[in-house]
Amino acid sequence: MIEFDRVSKTYGSTTALADFSLVAPTSKITVLMGLSGSGKTTIVRMVNKMVTPTSGSVSIDGLDVSGLDAVTLRRSIGYVMQEVGLLPHKTVLDNVTLIAQIAGQPADVAHRNATEMLQMVGINKQFFTRFPHQLSGGQQQRVGVARALAIKPNILLMDEPFGAVDPIVREELQDELCRIQRELGLTIMFVTHDRHEALKIADQLVILSNSGHIEQAGSPSELVANPANAFVRKILGV
Ligand code: ADP
Ligand code: MG
Repeated sequence: MIEFDRVSKTYGSTTALADFSLVAPTSKITVLMGLSGSGKTTIVRMVNKMVTPTSGSVSIDGLDVSGLDAVTLRRSIGYVMQEVGLLPHKTVLDNVTLIAQIAGQPADVAHRNATEMLQMVGINKQFFTRFPHQLSGGQQQRVGVARALAIKPNILLMDEPFGAVDPIVREELQDELCRIQRELGLTIMFVTHDRHEALKIADQLVILSNSGHIEQAGSPSELVANPANAFVRKILGV
């Protein structure tokens, strides 16, 4: 599990996060939902030490990440964001294989994992030799997910990953993510603005207001049945 214990982050006079505590359970999807600037990106980036807390601690299975090597951590945690950032002059297969190799896998293992994960996210072999600009936005996002999975992570951090994908493809990606999550038993922290997406994929849904203040956390059905306050009602549209 991932545990945030009284975590704060300040940038000068800006409090990005104030006294934030949360457990993201193992093999579950925790969705963070809140307005822009509420601290969602700050929270997920603390898990792989892209952001360091000003105070408080973040731990993975009881190990404080502050004591872990940042590079090692990033090679063991999948990270997907809206801008996929594939290498433009590398093929689809090379993009995914390369990341697995950087994570320390021997070439043949990296190639096998890349092939397996691309197929798992629905990219067929005929696309393997294409370049990123020859793919649709949805396909690029699938490759981004495959790339994150090719390092064989237990944890996947997803920061508005499907934000730029059109609605029908987005639904497909959500379905596939849920299937993959179950199949691999992944622990996922997923950030979204989209209430439909949040309610559909979350095991635990966390509604945040400014500075990562938790307005309510629970299962989607609990939140819809018993929204804690007007803010939660508004953001969930119930
Ligand atoms: P969200 O992802 O929910 O939109 P962020 O975590 O990106 O929110 O940001 C939370 C707050 O912290 C915002 O007010 C943002 O402007 C501020 N912030 C985030 N990163 C930095 C930074 N590197 N320097 C200064 N302020 C930052
Ligand atoms: Mg953000």
